[in-house]
Amino acid sequence: MTAPSAHDVIVIGGGVTGAGVARDLSLRGLSVLLLEKGDWGAGTSGSSSWMIHGGLRYLEFDWDTTRLSCIDAGNIVTIARNLVSRIAFIVPVLPHDVNNIERVETALEIYDRYQPFKHSHLHRRLTAEEARQVEPGLTSELVGAVTMEEWGVDPHRLVFANVQDAVVHGARALNHTAVTSLIQDGGKVIGVRYRGADGAMSEARARVVVNAAGPWVPEVGAMAGVHVELRPAKGVHIVYPHRISNFSISAESVDGRDLLMMAHAGFTLVGTTDDDFYGDLDSVDVLEDEVDYLLQGIERVFPAIRQYRPVRTTAGVRPTLFKWRKYEDELSRRHEVIDHSGEGADGLITIAGGKLSMYRVMAEETSDAVCRKLGHQAACTTATQPLPGNESEPEPAAALASRCGVPALAVMRLQSRHGTDAEKVLDEGGTSRLVCRCEPVTEAELIHAVRHEQVRTLGDAFRRVGLASGPCAGATCTARAAEVVGRELGWSVARTREEAVAFRRGLWLGRAPVLDSTGWAQEELALGAGAYRL
Ligand SMILES: Cc1cc2nc3c(=O)[nH]c(=O)nc-3n(C[C@H](O)[C@H](O)[C@H](O)COP(=O)(O)OP(=O)(O)OC[C@H]3O[C@@H](n4cnc5c(N)ncnc54)[C@H](O)[C@@H]3O)c2cc1C
Repeated sequence: MTAPSAHDVIVIGGGVTGAGVARDLSLRGLSVLLLEKGDWGAGTSGSSSWMIHGGLRYLEFDWDTTRLSCIDAGNIVTIARNLVSRIAFIVPVLPHDVNNIERVETALEIYDRYQPFKHSHLHRRLTAEEARQVEPGLTSELVGAVTMEEWGVDPHRLVFANVQDAVVHGARALNHTAVTSLIQDGGKVIGVRYRGADGAMSEARARVVVNAAGPWVPEVGAMAGVHVELRPAKGVHIVYPHRISNFSISAESVDGRDLLMMAHAGFTLVGTTDDDFYGDLDSVDVLEDEVDYLLQGIERVFPAIRQYRPVRTTAGVRPTLFKWRKYEDELSRRHEVIDHSGEGADGLITIAGGKLSMYRVMAEETSDAVCRKLGHQAACTTATQPLPGNESEPEPAAALASRCGVPALAVMRLQSRHGTDAEKVLDEGGTSRLVCRCEPVTEAELIHAVRHEQVRTLGDAFRRVGLASGPCAGATCTARAAEVVGRELGWSVARTREEAVAFRRGLWLGRAPVLDSTGWAQEELALGAGAYRL
């Protein structure tokens, strides 16, 4: 074991919360070590609905969260312009809905009070004819509709942009590095032991350790003998590799819950469930009846949904604060910063609960608590300081595309991930080839991701550059991508093949719950035709 490194603060967990805390503290001039056991954003953050929203439905029982969330969403969309895009929703009303058009519009009128905080447009009421004109896929039973606007975000890139900026400001950030225990001296937490990507054990010391492990918060707390209680709730999504509607659409499930069909920039998400979860957080499966539950609800307002081909599913566990005698849906999305000094674990601070849409303010409050502990006086600047690639206006995509000789769509995608740094990324590796026929990821971006963005596996490449997120679902691009990544990382031929097989298996496991009989037949046919040959 090497000699322990020393820092002001160690942050455990590289989801949006931990990455946000690491960035905030680094900007305040503290030395930070950020440790993530998987990849950046691979936990709950990456399995979210990809929305920076206020939470219309929390208005009923938790309006303060809606307000705070809208305010922080406004900050986030300002500092991360390249990563966000507007999502226009239609809230359809059917004849026997519990909420008639008047009730729905009243809720939207109240929500409108908060919309300006996040720079969103106010609602509009539509007749059934108007709604079906702009969204022909809606059911003919419609009696009316109301519009609403939220923001979509790429959570993987949002997390990584925070990590990137923390590193620019002096932090050390290690992915594939798991904290295995906390080091204590009497009643004080003074550091961590961790297993690195190469399997080697190391130690690091710090004056404060922050537990930002999302749903794993209780597990990390237990390492110091403290009890943090959550009410973890599982949520799943179905993913379609293209937009299947003009608008995003809300729907009601058979048990009266709100479901959403979200039209993101180049794909559609249908979700989500919300169920108490008692299983293994490192292995969360999607069940076929969860898929059916979602489709049943969406089908009621968008009857053609079952005709579209999903490519995968996602599953994540919300780190919700504990509350007894509440349905999952009614649980508050509030957050809590806990200083464990009174529990024999001085030096340990936990941030629990919350939402992606207010990760910045959660990070600010946690960083304030850390600074108070360290007697460090420096103001938070994350509400106004742009994330990397947002410092100025990007060049028009068409101009950059013709100058660099790549398709405009590839440049638009690149700019959505890297903002004004897109051209620098395109210069990497001296190639303008595309990796995939259906998803415009360039080899240059993949090489850049390995060299500068801590990509160590093909799964990391999926999160960093969207590898295999298009309609081919990895069938046409995995082998080529494995070659490019393997060449950069010095993989042998056998290792390159193993990594590609493991990646494809992971993709297949995510796809299996949405394969119907035709889907299974197509998989068999593709296998027989050698589509997956490496
Ligand atoms: C289905 C679903 C949809 C959602 N949709 C939205 C949405 O649209 N908008 C929104 O605002 N919120 C949404 N949420 C909530 C939001 O995703 C979460 O509140 C947020 O992402 C939690 O971030 P986190 O960083 O706290 O946790 P995580 O993202 O889970 O990060 C914690 C990290 O800690 C790491 N870790 C754990 N143990 C260790 C260890 N021992 N050593 C090192 N690392 C460790 C994990 O690997 C993980 O990456 C959704 C949640 C779900 C489940």
